[in-house]
Amino acid sequence: MVESSEKRDKFEFLDESISWWRRFSGEIGRRLREQLAIEPGLVKEKRWRYASHVTVVLLISLVILVGQWKMPKAEPPAVRPDHWLTISRSRGGAPEWEDNGSLIKAPVPHTTIPERPRLEVITYTVQSGDSVFGIAERFDVSPQTIMWSNGRLEDNPDLLGVGQELVILPTSGVYHIVEEGDTLEGIAQKYKVEVSAIADYEVNGLKEPYELTAGMALVVPGGEKPYIPKFVHRYTGPIPEDAAKGTGNFVWPASGSITQKFWSHHRAIDIGGYKGAPVVASDSGFVVYAGWDDSGYGRMLLIDHGNGWHTLYAHLDIYLVDYEQSVAQGQQIGTMGQTGNATGPHLHLEIWERNSKRNPLLLLP
Ligand SMILES: [Zn+2]
Repeated sequence: MVESSEKRDKFEFLDESISWWRRFSGEIGRRLREQLAIEPGLVKEKRWRYASHVTVVLLISLVILVGQWKMPKAEPPAVRPDHWLTISRSRGGAPEWEDNGSLIKAPVPHTTIPERPRLEVITYTVQSGDSVFGIAERFDVSPQTIMWSNGRLEDNPDLLGVGQELVILPTSGVYHIVEEGDTLEGIAQKYKVEVSAIADYEVNGLKEPYELTAGMALVVPGGEKPYIPKFVHRYTGPIPEDAAKGTGNFVWPASGSITQKFWSHHRAIDIGGYKGAPVVASDSGFVVYAGWDDSGYGRMLLIDHGNGWHTLYAHLDIYLVDYEQSVAQGQQIGTMGQTGNATGPHLHLEIWERNSKRNPLLLLP
């Protein structure tokens, strides 16, 4: 029994302290008597001096004693796993904050996910450093699920910004907001699932005859949305004859760690680093876009390498080259930042071969 042995230890310690104090005070008394016998004239002064010494020693002993005494362990406070996580049944309407609307970061950066399956649609507020992949992993759903449930992320997981509220489904699939004229069969067909997958899913709370009303939100477990790639607008004017041409080989435009790889819904790589880190041209070429991109890329540069290839650099803090300017491979063109929608300083790099975005990791040395 741990507790009783602890108690015994405490008493033993107390006993020891008391007997030590008896011996100590006895010694003091003995010395005092000796002094008194030798120098009776100094009695009064000595008495006061010893008395003050004894007081100090007494206080120090008391402090040590109290320090040794184990304070009873406080029970960990009964905190909800994460108070910035709103647990709400999303049936339309704005998500509510449980706390007075303040976005307080929980003391632990990661959410503890209970073992039992979650049966609610919840909202999560994007934190600094989050990525679609990371959030998906944390809530045990596919990255696509995060994108398919959150409008503007759908075609581009880079549009994740700190403070943004995300709908998190309890299972991988699609979140569908019912529109006028929708039928269960139609929705099932659209997302390639059986009707029963939606109808029988507890979270949807559907009962026969499965009447749907506009605005109703349905979780489509296992549902899929087709991928429709979108491109940022780009300069289409004539490239001058004397513009720098690409070598056909690429160099790393920045150093850092890969914070997001190339995958079906992120046809780019994210190189995480620090704000102000140099960004260089991956190959020689002609700057066809240098400006702010409203879709979430922030300050962005697009270089036409004149050989059918383009490189795109997004979320730059500043750019050091201008529109319609030739750049050499390795030349610094800007600095890393987190302009636009970004959860931390990083370079979003796309390498395009004509109109297809290629995996930079396969093209970089
Ligand atoms: Zn990116």
